[in-house]
Amino acid sequence: MVYGQTEVTRDLYEAREYANGEIEFQIENVVLNDLKTNSPFVTYENDGQSERIDCEFIAGCDGFRGVSRKSIPEEVRTEYEKTYPFGWLGLLSHSPPVDHELIYSNSDRGFALCSMRNENLSRYYLQCTATDKVEDWSDEAFWTELRRRIPEEFSDKLVTGPSIEKSIAPLRSFVTEPMRWGALFLCGDAAHIVPPTGAKGLNTAASDIHYLYNGLKQYYEERDPEGIDRYSEKALARVWKVERFSWWFSILMHQFPSDTPFERKMQIAELAFLRDNESAQKVMAQNYVGLPY
Ligand SMILES: Cc1cc2nc3c(=O)[nH]c(=O)nc-3n(C[C@H](O)[C@H](O)[C@H](O)COP(=O)(O)OP(=O)(O)OC[C@H]3O[C@@H](n4cnc5c(N)ncnc54)[C@H](O)[C@@H]3O)c2cc1C
Repeated sequence: MVYGQTEVTRDLYEAREYANGEIEFQIENVVLNDLKTNSPFVTYENDGQSERIDCEFIAGCDGFRGVSRKSIPEEVRTEYEKTYPFGWLGLLSHSPPVDHELIYSNSDRGFALCSMRNENLSRYYLQCTATDKVEDWSDEAFWTELRRRIPEEFSDKLVTGPSIEKSIAPLRSFVTEPMRWGALFLCGDAAHIVPPTGAKGLNTAASDIHYLYNGLKQYYEERDPEGIDRYSEKALARVWKVERFSWWFSILMHQFPSDTPFERKMQIAELAFLRDNESAQKVMAQNYVGLPY
């Protein structure tokens, strides 16, 4: 099933409200303090007012650009990174999706993806160069290029419309180790990034939370720290498999500027193998749907 990220966010807000939880917006100068002690605390400013939260543990779920990862000293962190020489230009439009299935297309002109938020809201992506700017792409240019990159049976029935949103996302693979330091647990994009090709980013953030939730439950209900002590090891074991899948699928589906005709032939041969071989399809499906926890 497709569970759009905006729907996930809406459901999380609702759940938080239902639990009478507090959410603060527009806070500034967040600092994580005394992470290696038994009494860590978070300080921040809200509307010019200094605030402090004392706690036992901190879940660092503040995304790739948040303060959590950077609160772990550099000499403790090992970072692994790969950047890709292209980006994804995304367009959202009030139009029915071209198909009920997602369409991933590897064409001679580059990658394209047709996806959807609901029956009247479509999300399309095109591989673009790393230097392209959103202003370089009119809606018309986007739709024309998309039509060229997908099979005729779909381009013929593509319903277009004005864009509601257009943006360019760079593609990156990134992992930081360890994912726990003292009282701080890194979760989601704060600890790792995948290229969006495998649709794994939010899914992997959720798997981190699964391990952390169960670890904290074990700690508070049974006073057993095993789950939180092994959080980093367990989460990373899954993260690296997801990184591998997203990297492999990205290489299979995109045109790289450095590709030679040989690499193109390799892509075509691998896609043909995937189309015809049930075992290969199973491996792909297991990774795409999500590896067991
Ligand atoms: C084009 C594109 C397509 C994608 N498609 C998919 C997909 O199909 N499937 C999938 O699983 N994933 C997908 N992803 C990845 C997914 O969006 C991310 O992996 C996911 O949002 C990570 O969640 P997160 O909670 O770890 O971080 P984020 O979503 O980045 O959330 C972090 C939050 O913390 C807040 N924050 C940061 N610092 C502070 C601070 N100091 N104080 C208060 N708040 C702070 C930020 O404002 C943000 O709201 C896609 C990503 C892109 C770019």
